[in-house]
This record gives sequence, structure tokens and C-alpha cells, in this order.
Amino acid sequence: MNEKLLHFIWKFRLFEQNNLCTTAGEKIEIVHQGTYNTDSGADFQNAKIRVGNTLWAGNIEIHIHSKDWFAHKHEQDAAYSNVILHVVYESGNKIATRKTGEAIPTLELKSLINANTLYRYEVLEKRKAWIPCAKFFKDVDEFTVKNFLERLLIERLENKVEQINLLLAESENNWENVMFQMIGRYFGASINKEPFFLLAKSLPVKVLAKHQNNLLQMEALLFGQAGFLEEKMDDEYPNQLRKEYFYLKRLHQLQPLKKEVWKFLRLRPSNFPTLRLAQLAALMNKEVKLFSKLIEAKNTKAIHQLFEVEVSTYWQEHYQFDKPSKKVNSHLGGVMKNILLINAVAPILFANGKYKDNENYCDKAVALLEQCEAESNAIITGWQKLSLSAANAYETQAMLQLKNEYCDKFNCLNCAIGTKILK
Ligand code: SF4
Repeated sequence: MNEKLLHFIWKFRLFEQNNLCTTAGEKIEIVHQGTYNTDSGADFQNAKIRVGNTLWAGNIEIHIHSKDWFAHKHEQDAAYSNVILHVVYESGNKIATRKTGEAIPTLELKSLINANTLYRYEVLEKRKAWIPCAKFFKDVDEFTVKNFLERLLIERLENKVEQINLLLAESENNWENVMFQMIGRYFGASINKEPFFLLAKSLPVKVLAKHQNNLLQMEALLFGQAGFLEEKMDDEYPNQLRKEYFYLKRLHQLQPLKKEVWKFLRLRPSNFPTLRLAQLAALMNKEVKLFSKLIEAKNTKAIHQLFEVEVSTYWQEHYQFDKPSKKVNSHLGGVMKNILLINAVAPILFANGKYKDNENYCDKAVALLEQCEAESNAIITGWQKLSLSAANAYETQAMLQLKNEYCDKFNCLNCAIGTKILK
């Protein structure tokens, strides 16, 4: 038994409620169990309980053992003077008292709790399968699951809004910089996410905008800042970039990253950071004010079109500097375009809607995810094995949120699926 489970049991009244009595033998009727309080003070507020013939209105405090009341020094705390019932799993000799010395009625739940709830909670707690509730998941009705996933999608977007707000604060509310940083970050996929993010942060969009129409300068800025142009190379083209970068570096007082931060190991050549940087340079060469363009894009097709880029001739024949390759797949693929849409465009659109208090942008962000293909990864495959499939990115994003923020953190008591299973 733990207090969180006891709170859950009290909240949903998962115990025998006929003939309830206090430990002193007085009859109790729960008219309203109160509202769960996660802040300081008693656990449930504004409850209504009839004890004997008297209807009491006030708060409920819950503990595993009645002596915990004294261990937490509630008998000296005026904030607990309004407690009308002390609910415990197991009672002892000491009865809870208010600061005034008055005794508070105690209700012991130990022998009253629904046995099925306890059994199922025990199974969840063992966390033996891919998710704790794997054994019961298929029994939960589709309506509960789909409804909860809708909530989770919004929760995931709201979490991303918090991250975006931090980036906005760092860049003095410059939405173009934040879009570039978010797009940059997802160009790095999981392996090079951090260096791409640092690179994007080191290059304000207003600097890039000065060189928008010159692909050579755009590449010089990105490859130079990434640290790839520090040493002389064999090919003429990188040396040209190098020369250009040293001029731009002085002009804009830039500080490059170290080349060593980039990872190539175990990556397919089409994911090499060098080719990704060439694609990012081509994108910024095509449209430097990505935020303004993307926020007005009508649908996923328009966004994909914007991400359709042509890299410079050199990168059509190379995956890395000085290493020619016959056939380079230099275009941004559909999967990559969706990654950018799902992780950068939709969250920023949603954040901008919140910022401007404009629901249309928030709705559009959600609609884009609905139009976007379902993602494919190990977590989505895990859900499919439990017969939960997704029709689009709206659903896969919600499924990721469920696994990462609820199942993996054993947050089952705050999960609608868990609630259904335990009830
Ligand atoms: S969080 Fe919900 S879905 Fe995940 S294991 Fe717990 S009850 Fe199941």
C-alpha cells in the first residue's frame, strides 16, 4: 500500500461503502469525497461527510497509518483544523486531533478495499511487461483509449510550447530564430541533434538573411560554423568555402563548433551530417524566413514543397568532403520532411497560436498532424503488438506521450487507461 494508491482509491471510492463506520463505531456516509488537492494542505478539499446525524463540510486527510498524522505534526498545524475525516489504511491507538485538541473521526479502509483493484495494482507495480498494464490493456474499451490519446496529444504539444517559450526568451522573441533552431535540431535526427541545435543557435537568422541568395556563402556559414572548414582540403570547392567562411567569420564575429562533435559512425551516408548541412544550406538559400512561410502553409503538401531542396553540385556527388561518390541521394526524403513537420513546424504553430491567443493556429497545428502519415519506430511497433494502431502522426505523437510520460514513469494512477483497469 502507498499513499498515492490510497488517494486513488478514495478519489474513485473503490471500497465497500455500505455500513461504513468510524473506528469509534459511528455511522458514516460519504456525500462527496472532496476534490483532490496536489498542493500543500489536506489531500481532499471541500468534502461532505455525514457522521452520525451531523453533516460535516471540510477536508479529508489520508495516511497509511493513523500515527502518520502525528509524524507529520498535523496536530500542531492550523492548516489541518478543517479536516473532518482522517482516512487511513490501518488505524492504531492514537486518534488524530486538531490544534484545538478536538478528536477527528477516523475511517479505516484496510478490510474494505476492492480486492480486484489491489490485485491489478500489484500486477501493474511489478512492471514486468513492455508496459505495466500489458496484461489488461486489450480489455480496455476503444473509446477510453482514443479519448485519452486526444488529451495526450494536446499535453505533448503543450510540453513542447514550454520548450519553445524558453528558446523564445533566449532569442528575444524572435520566431524566425526559434524556427531555424527547431528545424536545425531535427535535421540532426537523434544522433546529431545536439550539434545541429548548437550550430543553429550560433547563427542568427538575420546573419543568414544577408547571404540568402548566395548558396556558396550559405554553405560557408553552415559548414564553417560546424567546424568542418578549419583545415585545408584536397578538393577546390571546400577550399573555396573555407576562404569564404574566414571572411564571413570575421565580418559577423562568429565562433565555430569543434568538428569532433559530429558523428558519422553507424549512420547511412544519406544521414551523414555533411549532406544534411548541405540540405539545410539549400533550404535557407531557398527561404531564409522559414517561420513566416511555414506558418502560412495551408497543408502538409505545401510544407513538403517548401522542404523540397536542391543541394549544390558538389553535394550531388559527395557525402563527405574530398570523397566523391557516384550516386548521391541528395534530396530530403518524405520521412525527413515529416519529422520536421511533426517536431518543429506543428509545435511552433501551436506555440504561436497560444502566444497570440489565436485558436486557429492551434487547430491548424493539430490538423497538420492529422494529415501527416503515422510515424514508424520501436514504440509504435510496441503499441501495435498490443493491437493499438495509428492512422496518422496525431495518433503516433499521442502514443509516444503515453509510453514516455506515463507507462515508463509508472504514472498509471494518472492515466485514464489505468483508471479503467483499476476500477
Ligand atoms: S500508464 Fe496507462 S497505459 Fe501505461 S501502463 Fe500504466 S495504465 Fe497502462
